[in-house]
Amino acid sequence: MELNLEQDWKDIVHRCFRCGYCKFTYEFSDFNCPSYKKHRFETYSTGGRLWLIYGLISGEIPWSQGVANVLYACSTCGNCTENCRFDKFNDFLVDIIEAARAEAVINGFCPEKQKALIERIENSEMYNPYGEKNSDNEDLKKEYDLPDKAEWVYFIGCTSNYRQKNLRDATLRFLKKTNIDFTLIDEHCCCSPVMRTGQINSVKDFINYNIAQINNAGASKVITSCAGCYRTLKKDWLKFGADYDFQIYHTVELVKKLLDEGKLKFISEYNKTVTYHDPCHLGRHMDLYEIPREVYKHIPRIKFVEMKRNRENAWCCGAGGGVKIGYPEWSVEISKERLEEAKITGASVISSVCPFCKTNLSDANIKFNMNFEVIDLIEILDNIEFEISGN
Ligand code: SF4
Ligand code: SF4
Repeated sequence: MELNLEQDWKDIVHRCFRCGYCKFTYEFSDFNCPSYKKHRFETYSTGGRLWLIYGLISGEIPWSQGVANVLYACSTCGNCTENCRFDKFNDFLVDIIEAARAEAVINGFCPEKQKALIERIENSEMYNPYGEKNSDNEDLKKEYDLPDKAEWVYFIGCTSNYRQKNLRDATLRFLKKTNIDFTLIDEHCCCSPVMRTGQINSVKDFINYNIAQINNAGASKVITSCAGCYRTLKKDWLKFGADYDFQIYHTVELVKKLLDEGKLKFISEYNKTVTYHDPCHLGRHMDLYEIPREVYKHIPRIKFVEMKRNRENAWCCGAGGGVKIGYPEWSVEISKERLEEAKITGASVISSVCPFCKTNLSDANIKFNMNFEVIDLIEILDNIEFEISGN
């Protein structure tokens, strides 16, 4: 069900009693909220935002661009949901912020930069947030000799298809090597960027289009190598009333399944020290923490090390929630902090399972000369030899 600020959150938002736990991770005596850490002003913490939202709902605070800007200065990383001590309430914090953004859009206060996302996605030449000409993926289907109908659809996602093509191609090569029966569709944006920024008017049309494409391909399973698409297809599409009966997988789940069944065996070694960055959309938003770690640890001779803040406490890469497009300088500052944390582990490689995390970590790596190799797990697998049997 699509969530509405007035109807769904009015009776919940006042439960915040401004204890302030959402601003810190007690365990590390440090800030956990990128927004509060940057601005050091109560309104930029979740508790502060909730009181602002309460004021908006009750009419005590009028809408203005300044108020809306506070709502948008949040990467929707979900770290506050882990640290808010109020069990019957903490799961909703990011949903409430997103519902308030939708209200900001209705009232005409969506910030200008974030508006570009909906303008590009709704443009019939594009259907993606990067402003690129839409790829119907027919060329890729030919290049990889893919059928029109198949058991699986690889939902590439806009970031992989238009900005991280090596990650896309590594995924295609991996899927080909596994011999699974898969194809591609003419996909339009999954709508994660516009859902996160409250621009939800045409979301249902996009969902219905993508579902029809998947159904036309005869698929019973959809796989994606993007944490954002994974969360959106598996969780958000349902919130918007989607009706589908295919299953959704992240690539890493397929890799783990093949390893568990003994069908996949890594042959060559990866003699590097690697640390893993949990994407917010896979970890805190979907509770998928251990599967990627187990896959890394299967790779021969890899030295896998953890950053201090990991799993539910992981520091955000800074790209989500419209922050990358809205506040590009701040966005890479957040990633810089993640890379500094990775440096302490002695790792030369920082790896993740999300093209959006890869993009922002890479941007910070270049901008601040951090000298990491930033690489997705599926790209690591693309660089090593492995055997597939019985598939
Ligand atoms: S959101 Fe939760 S942790 Fe934060 S101030 Fe409100 S009740 Fe406290
Ligand atoms: S979602 Fe992340 S950035 Fe936004 S208020 Fe919560 S901790 Fe801060």
